[in-house]
Amino acid sequence: MWDKHEVYVNIPRFSYSQLIIDTKSVNISVKMKRILAVETTEKAGEEVKLAGWIHNRRDHGQLIFIDLRDKSGLIQLVFLPEDKVLYQLADKLRSEWVVEVIGKVNKRPRKMVNEHIPTGQVELEVKELKILNESKIPPFEISEDVTRKKREKSLKGAVTAREVKEELRLKYRYLDLRRHTMKRNLFIRHKVFKIIRDYMDKKGFIEIETPILTKSTPEGARDFLVPSRVHPGKFYALPQAPQQLKQLLMVAGVEKYFQIARCFRDEDTRGDRQPEFTQLDIEMSFCRQKDILNLVENLLIKIVKELVTFDKHLSRKLTFNPFLKMDYADAIKKHGTDKPDLRKNPEDPNELAFVWILNWPLFEWNTDEKKYDPCHHVFTAPKAKDIPLLDTDPLKVRSWQHDLVLNGVEVGGGSLRIHRRDIQEKIFKLVGLNKKEINEKFGHLLEAFEYGAPPHGGIAPGLDRILMILLGEENIREVIAFPKTGDGRDLTMGAPSDVSKEQLEDLNIKIVK
Ligand code: ASP
Repeated sequence: MWDKHEVYVNIPRFSYSQLIIDTKSVNISVKMKRILAVETTEKAGEEVKLAGWIHNRRDHGQLIFIDLRDKSGLIQLVFLPEDKVLYQLADKLRSEWVVEVIGKVNKRPRKMVNEHIPTGQVELEVKELKILNESKIPPFEISEDVTRKKREKSLKGAVTAREVKEELRLKYRYLDLRRHTMKRNLFIRHKVFKIIRDYMDKKGFIEIETPILTKSTPEGARDFLVPSRVHPGKFYALPQAPQQLKQLLMVAGVEKYFQIARCFRDEDTRGDRQPEFTQLDIEMSFCRQKDILNLVENLLIKIVKELVTFDKHLSRKLTFNPFLKMDYADAIKKHGTDKPDLRKNPEDPNELAFVWILNWPLFEWNTDEKKYDPCHHVFTAPKAKDIPLLDTDPLKVRSWQHDLVLNGVEVGGGSLRIHRRDIQEKIFKLVGLNKKEINEKFGHLLEAFEYGAPPHGGIAPGLDRILMILLGEENIREVIAFPKTGDGRDLTMGAPSDVSKEQLEDLNIKIVK
């Protein structure tokens, strides 16, 4: 599964045996450097040192077979009965114990070859064994079927892994992440982020971090608030998105900004929604809408193409290349939704139907509150020729919003922005803000627009959702290392949690029961 070269480059080159007090070893040599399981395929006949976890164990007559697991995958270890001390020690090994072994890499006899794992041509005849740590019996099974082919045949391996109660998986996430599929998901996530960073860098964008402790910026959700100790009664908001900050970076003359940005929205969690999630946040100056669409489209096509080089099971087909473009009005008329699923064959897990939804109205009418709500957010620019309609018929105004939909899921949205103070103020008023509110909430942005703000626009594809679909997962929790439960709890760490009386006093906060 893993690209050998990459794995090789990433190996920490130290020996565990120098770090762990040796209480249970037989003959282990400290001088040798550890290699990874996957590297044994090129070392037939050589003596090597490996370290990892006991994945499973099978006894055949006199022989003990153990699958050893490290970050690169599995390798079969064989213990022969001749060396009694070694054999007795091997006999004690149980699942998830951590060991270090030295042995000779042997080519397996033809009928013993295991086609399903990359090291299936070889095995390690163990000469030395050191137990680095024991393990309690894990609360669920870690070893899942490593071969997609087998899994698909009897779906059992995968189902067993997924069947475990999710609460248990999240509580023991460090064990859950030992599983092949979860490790694969983290690995691909890393690779996709790397493709993104390289691509954006090549296109002249620079990554800039924006603050996490900041001020509320509306994206249609509730804010997470952080009380200020130094300024009693005042609060920071965690960013729902770095929207205003990226616009201020455009005023600052950065021209091309991106950030793999964490966003926080206090809203009900669903399968494709988490209270904190990761976006590829992009903003550029002096651009046309089509520049933004092309940039993102070419990046996504590149990611889809490269996926298969990381895992051969991830070959995906694009239904539309270039992506389909559809007007908002047509999407509603023809498909009854602004997130149409346009796969030709929705049963096919390999199909990816990307669609751009364009030409949105600027506002929708909020019948409950009897006011205009922005279809995207308040910073989206109206089309120039519709600006007069802001005074006469705001619902007729069309905007420069662009949404990206993949297989019926919204995976990104953005727009060309307003960069003139007068128009921005008008929009704030139309969505029901009074002068005081406008000044308190957005005075800084309006002022910035008076210092030579360039025309600009951007987008923010949601990376968790895109990864979920690319990897064929049904829930974004499967592509996030430490996600939260449906009701917003972090079960690994036990958050949210009580805090001490002193902490509350420091923050001038009283809990009302
Ligand atoms: N800030 C927007 C969002 O988070 C994206 C954008 O307009 O660039 O959805």
